[in-house]
Amino acid sequence: MAPAIAMVWRAVGRPPRGLCGPRAELLTEVRNLKLSRLCIAIASTTLSTLTLLGCQTATTPPADLVMRNGYVYTVDGQDSVQQAVAVAGGKIVYVGDDQGAAAYIGKQTQQIDLAGRMLMPGFVDAHMHPGDGGRALLLCNLNYEKMTRAQFQTKIQACLDASKDKEPNAWLEVGSWDRIGMASLDGDPDKSTLDALKTDRPIQVRSTDFHTVLTNSRGLQLAGISKATVDPVGGKFARDSAGNPTGICEDGAAETMAAKVPPATDAEKLTQIRVALDAMREQGITSFFDALSGAENAKAFTRLQQSGELTARATLALMLDPAEAAADPAKSIAAAKALAQTYDQGALQVQPGVSMRHVKLFMDGIINAPANTGALLMPYMKNVGTQKAPQWVPGDNLGELYYPAPVLKPLLLEAVKAGFDPHLHATGERAVRESLDGIAYVRQQLPGNAFRPAIAHAETVASADYGRFKALDTTASMSHQWAQQAPFSVDGTNDQLGAERFARMEPSGSIAQAGGRVAYGSDWPVDPLDELLALKIGVTRSGDPLNPHSYGPDLAGKLNAAPGLSRAEALRSITRNAAEQLRLDAAVGSIEVGKFADLIVLDKNFMQVPEEELARNQVLLTLVGGKVVFAKEQFSSLAPKALLSKATPALD
Ligand SMILES: [Zn+2]
Repeated sequence: MAPAIAMVWRAVGRPPRGLCGPRAELLTEVRNLKLSRLCIAIASTTLSTLTLLGCQTATTPPADLVMRNGYVYTVDGQDSVQQAVAVAGGKIVYVGDDQGAAAYIGKQTQQIDLAGRMLMPGFVDAHMHPGDGGRALLLCNLNYEKMTRAQFQTKIQACLDASKDKEPNAWLEVGSWDRIGMASLDGDPDKSTLDALKTDRPIQVRSTDFHTVLTNSRGLQLAGISKATVDPVGGKFARDSAGNPTGICEDGAAETMAAKVPPATDAEKLTQIRVALDAMREQGITSFFDALSGAENAKAFTRLQQSGELTARATLALMLDPAEAAADPAKSIAAAKALAQTYDQGALQVQPGVSMRHVKLFMDGIINAPANTGALLMPYMKNVGTQKAPQWVPGDNLGELYYPAPVLKPLLLEAVKAGFDPHLHATGERAVRESLDGIAYVRQQLPGNAFRPAIAHAETVASADYGRFKALDTTASMSHQWAQQAPFSVDGTNDQLGAERFARMEPSGSIAQAGGRVAYGSDWPVDPLDELLALKIGVTRSGDPLNPHSYGPDLAGKLNAAPGLSRAEALRSITRNAAEQLRLDAAVGSIEVGKFADLIVLDKNFMQVPEEELARNQVLLTLVGGKVVFAKEQFSSLAPKALLSKATPALD
């Protein structure tokens, strides 16, 4: 028995980095296996199946749920494929063939015939903004559409006309504006575009990437922004040649403007988060990372958990302010720690809960024109010719680096010492390199510390740095959908970055080939929430001309010649690797005995459909902790009737 047990230990995973609850429970279950004298399956199977099998003993109680006759894609260490899964108490108690599952069926056991469909671990979205996502669906919504300035005015005027009772003082908030698409059609707008509308109201329009706010003259006036205003740290107010603000506000300046709008009431916040959770269930997202969170979101998620409406595991990151962090890193981290201690629920439970163990740092802005705020090693190119006869030459803009090394290094050290995992937004190659240097510094200062850093987006990475993700055990948290041809990726970066850099854009495959761990994060609502399209693009590096979230036949080719991910790597990026980034991997991210039953059923088999059909697929069934939270027609008899019908207690 001893060798078999050794193998089971190996199958459970490499030695735990921190022995938290679920991992400890998992190990207990493995120990129980040792006691069982009925591990016939183990004794008689090969290593590959052995890794998956639970052992049914004479005393094994029947499972609550058995799913059989499927293509069970486990994302275990070997990405093995099985037929059946049994679930008891919200956890996976058996993974193996149909025959073995039969023993888990009792009188009360619910049975699901998967009819050959693909069952896989629930999606773990390792970077999104659920509060903003839910909110964007409820705002004056420009819906990511590429439009001219005239069309933009028409849409916003319609929102104003539909809410005339809000004249003359209430802010109109507009979301999901494709600034880059508009710039490519008829130029970047400014305050005059909004000043021309029939209204007295102040207006804020958010770009899809969230890095820009456009406001009108009334908005600037109410916010007290004038020629004399000094740009905030980590942001800028665009100005005309006379120094007057144009209404375009980038990064920190966009946040200054956003802060002028009264915050959502508690009730509004709950509505936004409910809408977000609804979208997640349908997408098959069973765990997510709120990459820019705070007390408000934490309070709302906690409240929805209490009313039984939290249907995905929430991991929330606290954003650090560059100015405060530079002035006093210890104070900055202490404040984050106090908040985390208030909301983090500790060891994971079968029921979805709230974790708060990450800090978020914006290392730079974005590499897309016209913002060009991503920090580069060599300057952005500028056009010294005409629009018709362009001549691109290196300019003098290197982008913005919001945490210079002397600030970053002590701050990261302080954060890791306090138990936080750093999540660094870095889009440009200089921001990525500085992030890696900062992580290297902490690894050096705290040898043996098992912190789990992630660099989010990493859209341009110097080739010399690909291997450093593995060397520094740093997750590349990538947004695969950006590796398709799109106004933002072609019009917005091609000329400005230059051919050599454009050829390396979105290096998920390159980092994976260099041994790095690649996770996936949708960045919703920067883009529409469409996980299967993103996975398709991760593999093919091209959109789907039939998908409304791609850009049609004109932009159907590959982004560039850089390598994509294999299908297995793409699925790992949204399950196991994302779970590892979020420190959830002991409990979720693969279908293995002892893990929580966070599972989804896909209509079509992602591993087997032709490449062009990878995104023409849907989630039919979503289970979290063994509970059905979403079901399409085929499984409608399992649909959760009680969900959302409960009244939510008021926030205090
Ligand atoms: Zn983001």
